[in-house]
Amino acid sequence: MHAICLHGGAGAITREIIDEALEAKFRASLGRILQAGHELLAGGGSALDAVALVVGLLEEDPLYNAGVGANVSAAGECELDASIMDGRTLAAGAVAGVRTVRSPIRLARAVMERSSHVLLTGAGAEEFAAAIGEERVENAHFQTPFRRAQWARVQELEQAAAPAVDAAGRPRVTSYTADDNVFFRELSFGTVGCVALDARGNLAAATSTGGMMNKRFGRVGDSPLIGAGTYASNASCAVSCTGWGEYFVRAAAAHDVAARMEYSGAHLGSAAAGAIARVGELGGEGGLIAVDRTGRVALPFNSAGMYRAWQTPTDGPHVALFGDE
Ligand code: ASP
Repeated sequence: MHAICLHGGAGAITREIIDEALEAKFRASLGRILQAGHELLAGGGSALDAVALVVGLLEEDPLYNAGVGANVSAAGECELDASIMDGRTLAAGAVAGVRTVRSPIRLARAVMERSSHVLLTGAGAEEFAAAIGEERVENAHFQTPFRRAQWARVQELEQAAAPAVDAAGRPRVTSYTADDNVFFRELSFGTVGCVALDARGNLAAATSTGGMMNKRFGRVGDSPLIGAGTYASNASCAVSCTGWGEYFVRAAAAHDVAARMEYSGAHLGSAAAGAIARVGELGGEGGLIAVDRTGRVALPFNSAGMYRAWQTPTDGPHVALFGDE
């Protein structure tokens, strides 16, 4: 028995914002990539290989905020984060703030399998990539005209709302104003993730992102943090989160799902819904995907929509975008 579930980000995904042509592109992409992951599992492949394959394919698709098409930081560059976890052994690998690594998820897996560390950041992660021969690209490779235009608009709004210096002429220490959530809610979605159960009963999870649009240089969200954006344990479930990362970090959201199952015997659906409710109580917005050892999946979100697709032994393939699907 095997099951797979993927997401392409949660946020202001409504029929007003996504026109029919774009909707069709997303449905085709989600369906195609789900099928690739499902076929790998059906052929006896491991959950770990399936989540790595799926997230790698999502990174290459410019529709999503991961790899090509990533959000642009306030410094004008793409800074990419990714993580992966093997539920069989609790082995994990992650990278944060990489700028020239073509596939951050592949590098995260290499950190897990070829180093003694869990998380490498910035220059150290790049150096590791060079040492093991990972493919490198110019940062421009990730920057699409669409994201670049969004970024320019956010910069404009930010300057209008809060100039770079305050009334006393002092430079502002944050690039965000109290009204940032408008920018976040409208622009910051498209992180990708995948969770899978394979025929041997093993679980795995992976997540990759460009982070929040116009994030400060060096900002790290939940996606590369084990327990926040990604978690997998054969004892309970595999989880990948998406949304306003600061809240998912504070809620330790991905591990929260597993903990609810392991400590209090909650079933997957209520554990996943409880974790998202907790993020919501803190003021955060987003969603997660999760699969348990029986192949059950849960895809709760408190945002307007979430790009998602899943297939279980008894259900699917399904592709959905909006909140009412
Ligand atoms: N969670 C990601 C981050 O905060 C963004 C997202 O999921 O859209 O970096």
